[in-house]
Amino acid sequence: MCDYIYSDGSKCQEAPLEGSKYCALHISFEEGEKLVWREKLEELKLSAVARKLQAGDFNFEGAYLYTFPLTWEVLEEFGIKEIEDNIILSNANVILSG
Ligand SMILES: [Zn+2]
Repeated sequence: MCDYIYSDGSKCQEAPLEGSKYCALHISFEEGEKLVWREKLEELKLSAVARKLQAGDFNFEGAYLYTFPLTWEVLEEFGIKEIEDNIILSNANVILSG
C-alpha cells in the first residue's frame, strides 16, 4: 500500500508505483518524473483520479495533481452549487470544509 497517511490517521489504500513508496496520486512531481516521463505520470495521476471519482471517493488530500477534471457532478460532490467567476488553481492547496 501507498505510504501516505491522511490527517485522520488512515492509510491510503492505493497500490504504490513501482520504484516508489507512494501511489500515483501521492507521489511528488519531482519523484514521479524521475521514474516515468511527465506525460506518463500525468496519465497515471488522471486515471487514479478517475478511479477514485468513479468509486465515489472525493478525498484528494495530499494528492499531487497536474490537472483535475472539474465537472458539475464533481463540484456538486464537493458541495459547490454555483460559480460566479473563474476558478484558477495554480500550485493550489485546496481545502474545503463543511
Ligand atoms: Zn496514495
